[in-house]
Amino acid sequence: MSAKIIDGKAFAEGVRAQVAEHVARLREEQGITPGLAVVLVGEDPASQVYVRNKGKQTVEVGMTSYEHKLPAETSEAELLGLIGRLNADPAVHGILVQLPLPKHLDSDLVINAIDPAKDVDGFHISNVGLLGTGQKAMVPCTPLGCLMMLRDHLGSLSGLDAVVVGRSNIVGKPMAQLLLGDSCTVTIAHSRTKDLGAVCRRADILVAAVGRPEMIPGAWVKPGATVIDVGINRIERDGKTKLVGDVDFASAVEVAGAITPVPGGVGPMTIACLLANTLTACCRANGLPEPE
Ligand code: NDP
Repeated sequence: MSAKIIDGKAFAEGVRAQVAEHVARLREEQGITPGLAVVLVGEDPASQVYVRNKGKQTVEVGMTSYEHKLPAETSEAELLGLIGRLNADPAVHGILVQLPLPKHLDSDLVINAIDPAKDVDGFHISNVGLLGTGQKAMVPCTPLGCLMMLRDHLGSLSGLDAVVVGRSNIVGKPMAQLLLGDSCTVTIAHSRTKDLGAVCRRADILVAAVGRPEMIPGAWVKPGATVIDVGINRIERDGKTKLVGDVDFASAVEVAGAITPVPGGVGPMTIACLLANTLTACCRANGLPEPE
């Protein structure tokens, strides 16, 4: 039997519609417009596409988008100067520095220079610590989107076995923290994990965040499991460029209970959650009740 396909595109549209409604109310009742500043250093083509999409969707939900495009040779002092000005600007509620940064810039230093209250990516060390200790944090957008889809599909996650493949700071680790927060029994697997197939087969919830095209076959999926595929990999097949996930969709869809496709799964949820985080940051900055 084929798995249910979790439609991240439709889910993200719903999230964006809720954000837009809340933003319209904020403007009408409080005269406040949430603002998101996105900083791009250099000309990485994938980053340019992401930044363009973020800017477009920010405006579509009624927020103000501030785009700062800096040349690749920008110095650390110049970048830190800009972040300082954005931190101090009351019209800017969220700040996102598009990663990866050019090699001469220290991304930890730059990210930690962002005011944690405006850190809508949730990468500042304060937000990482708050999330890890179960306190109110800015939660990284990609894992937050995954959690929302999991809750929507499964209801309570309590007691379920979750396996997260990948331990990056931006996806794997925060994903594991969120699943733990929802009372899953969490395993984090990575490149040194022994018998990854056996580890994956234990999972009621399997999250793949590796960056290796179709590396997880259906044979590693427990029958009925919920599979969240974070991977975005560009491959050449039949003379065409194609996007595929970290999971071999064709075989996994026959075994899983539910699965996110690539594209159209986790990807669209990431920007929707960025907008939701910006709205939350704006409400907090103004002492207003936060959106649910
Ligand atoms: P990283 O490269 O930072 O991390 C990859 C992780 O996968 C590492 O922890 C690595 O282990 C692990 N890994 C690598 N090879 C193997 C293997 N053979 N077996 C088991 N684990 C392995 O990637 P990111 O977390 O940044 O991204 C992961 C994927 O998600 C990418 O495809 C990326 O494009 C995508 N992505 C998608 C987003 C979206 O919006 N949908 C947002 C962000 C990322 P180790 O630590 O041991 O090296």
